[in-house]
Amino acid sequence: SKGRTPLMAGNWKMNLNHQEAIVLVQKLAVTLSDKKHDFSRVEVVVVPPFTDLRSVQTLVDGDRLQIRYGAQDVSTHEAGAYTGEISAAMLAKLGCSYVVVGHSERREYHAEGDEVVNAKAHRALATGMTPIVCVGEGLDVRQAGAHVAHCLAQVDGSLAGFSAEQVGGLVVAYEPVWAIGTGEVATPEDAQEVCAAIRGRIREVHGDDAADGVRILYGGSVKAANVAGIMAQRDVDGCLVGGASLQADEFGGICRFY
Ligand code: PEP
Repeated sequence: SKGRTPLMAGNWKMNLNHQEAIVLVQKLAVTLSDKKHDFSRVEVVVVPPFTDLRSVQTLVDGDRLQIRYGAQDVSTHEAGAYTGEISAAMLAKLGCSYVVVGHSERREYHAEGDEVVNAKAHRALATGMTPIVCVGEGLDVRQAGAHVAHCLAQVDGSLAGFSAEQVGGLVVAYEPVWAIGTGEVATPEDAQEVCAAIRGRIREVHGDDAADGVRILYGGSVKAANVAGIMAQRDVDGCLVGGASLQADEFGGICRFY
C-alpha cells in the first residue's frame, strides 16, 4: 500500500441541474452500496456546478451518505463587490470538502495562470477545504518532450507559499490536456512519469512528510475499463474523472477499481 487513501473525484463540469444532480448522487449511492464499496478504502467525491451544491448537501446530510462533494472553482477574493463570484467561505459553509482549482478549462477559457490558481488554493485551504490543484500540458508541449518541465513549473507556481505541512494535505491532479474529453487516455506509464516527477519535486522542496502525504491524481478519459492499470502505478493516488462521472454505473465502477 502507498499509505495514502485513494481519491476518486467526479468533475461534472457544466452538466446537470439541481434535480438531475440529486438523481445522480442517489444512483451513485445505490451503485456503491450494491458493490459493497468501502469508503474508508477509497474516498468518493462529486464536483457538481455551484447551483447544485445546496441540493447535494441536503441529500448527503439527510441520507447520511459517505459521498463527499466539492466545487469546480472559487473566487480569489474573500468577499465583497465581486459580481458573479463565489467565495470559499460560502462553499465551506455548504459542506464542501474540496475545491478544484486551475482546471485546464479554467486556464484555457478564462486565462487563469499559476498566480490566480495559487490564490484560489490559498482561499480554499484558509476555510478548511482541500484544493485539488490541476496541472497538465497540451499536445504541443508533450510532442516537444517538455511535459515534465511544464508540469513542474505549474506545480511550483500553483503551490507557492504553502508550508510543508500544508502541502502534505493537498491534492494535485495531473491532467494532460490532450487526454481530457478526447477518449485518448494516457498510458499508465505516461501518468506515472509525471506523477512521480511531481512527488519528486515536492520531496525536494518540502521534504518527505509532504511528499508522502500529498495525493496525486491522474485525469483524462478515465473509465471503469482503464482505471486499474492507472491505479496500479506507484505515484497515482486516484483519478479526476470528467465524462465518466456523469454515469452512476461507470463512476461507481471507477471507485470500485480495487
Ligand atoms: C476532466 O475534465 O477533469 C477530465 C478528466 O475529463 P474526462 O474524464 O472527460 O477526460
